[in-house]
Amino acid sequence: MTIDMIGDMTGETLKSYDIAVIGGGPAGATVAALLTGRGRSVVLFEKTPHPRFHIGESLLPRNIPILERMGVLEQVRAIGMYKPGAEFISEDHPNRQNFQFTEALDPNPSYAYQVRRSQFDEILLRNAAARGAEVLENCTVSDIAFGAGEHRIAYERDGAQQACRARFVIDASGRDGFLAGRLKLRSRNKAHNSAAMFGHFKDVPARAWTTPGNIGIYLFDHGWMWMIPLADGTTSVGAVCMPDYLKSRRGTLDEFFFETLKMCTKLWSDLQSATLVSPVRGAGNYSYTAGRAFGDGYLLLGDAYVFVDPVFSSGVFIAMSSAELAAVAVDEALKRPERAESLFRAYQREVDKGIRRFSWLIYRFNAPAMRKLIMGSRNIFGLRSAVISLVTGDVYSKNGGGWRHALFRGLYHALTICDYGRNHGWANRRRGFLAISVAEDEVAGRS
Ligand SMILES: Cc1cc2nc3c(=O)[nH]c(=O)nc-3n(C[C@H](O)[C@H](O)[C@H](O)COP(=O)(O)OP(=O)(O)OC[C@H]3O[C@@H](n4cnc5c(N)ncnc54)[C@H](O)[C@@H]3O)c2cc1C
Repeated sequence: MTIDMIGDMTGETLKSYDIAVIGGGPAGATVAALLTGRGRSVVLFEKTPHPRFHIGESLLPRNIPILERMGVLEQVRAIGMYKPGAEFISEDHPNRQNFQFTEALDPNPSYAYQVRRSQFDEILLRNAAARGAEVLENCTVSDIAFGAGEHRIAYERDGAQQACRARFVIDASGRDGFLAGRLKLRSRNKAHNSAAMFGHFKDVPARAWTTPGNIGIYLFDHGWMWMIPLADGTTSVGAVCMPDYLKSRRGTLDEFFFETLKMCTKLWSDLQSATLVSPVRGAGNYSYTAGRAFGDGYLLLGDAYVFVDPVFSSGVFIAMSSAELAAVAVDEALKRPERAESLFRAYQREVDKGIRRFSWLIYRFNAPAMRKLIMGSRNIFGLRSAVISLVTGDVYSKNGGGWRHALFRGLYHALTICDYGRNHGWANRRRGFLAISVAEDEVAGRS
């Protein structure tokens, strides 16, 4: 059956909306809520009923004002673990670096939350429904036929094909990348081809964190690991590894995960008495971009557009801040279609600007020179504050970080030249391994 036949076969008139949103994660739920707030009729399709598991539990301070504007901050506070900062622990350095958000150039707000994404995403999705979006869970978008001014969306619900019409489509389908896949827009970042393994533990001792609630970032030879304390006493633990190490995998995901955790002796000393209470999961197909965030009748949002790396916990913030920009652009474009191209170009420029600020640091995070700068961080000329500002998500404002970031880059390049051999060796390690041996959405014990 072609998409044109769905619905017409029953003779019924297809329901019509201003906007169809694919995906009910932070990006989709936020844009749907904001567009209904602008008087638009919105349908949101989510393939998995909420609450559902999702990785990405550490939020940034700059998420807080967005949550406030969405009217959900109190609900998030109720389920969240207060996060005052991030601490860095390295196998090669004796000290711990405790970056507190109060040290940022503009320390307002100076906290964030760590959340179980099943709860957090459900709050956002129910909020979108409460604000008037038609939220259809258990509905997988399967096809789209773009037309002149109106598009036909086919979706599967309870095994049956159904369809509706919408004037505009927003793809917020996350790493699935529904439209980017169909339109063959997505390209992998060959120079940043990592993958992650993660699970939840109970009984991690409190001594693991210098300041309660911090995210712990552990640097080791093959990448980095996180320890994220959650409000119910569990701790999310994950390892993001370089491709040459991932190629060495033999055995199951569980075995490989524990083998890897043990390599980071400072993390393992706190984790060995803890108990794994979830399946071990993997996320491959790591860093990618669709290159272009919009086209005729559609726009890409959040992970559906681009994904860099979770080291600075930027994903949810980028998804939600882009959703705020997208809601304005889409609403204006529907009012004045002749301006759509320039509105969407401005949208993409702004989103790219934020991502570029994070990604420069992220792509070099495993480099010896970068590790030296982070672990030896001091506040000379406010450099430490400028880096902490980035870690709070302050990537869009003009708060004085500009020349400090330039100086920081200069220092990085100088250190790279001084220790060329080691830094060049690192650069070679992250290239040339296109096949990685952790599958996207791999779950241990499930074939
Ligand atoms: C290992 C790892 C660790 C991370 N850690 C962090 C972190 O600590 N902090 C942070 O901020 N970010 C983190 N991230 C990134 C973060 O998870 C994402 O950036 C964020 O979830 C993006 O939100 P989104 O709404 O764009 O996509 P998602 O949250 O993935 O939502 C997309 C939704 O679309 C639905 N969907 C997909 N296809 C269809 C379809 N065809 N029809 C209907 N529905 C569909 C999916 O079911 C899903 O619910 C991490 C990512 C990884 C891989």
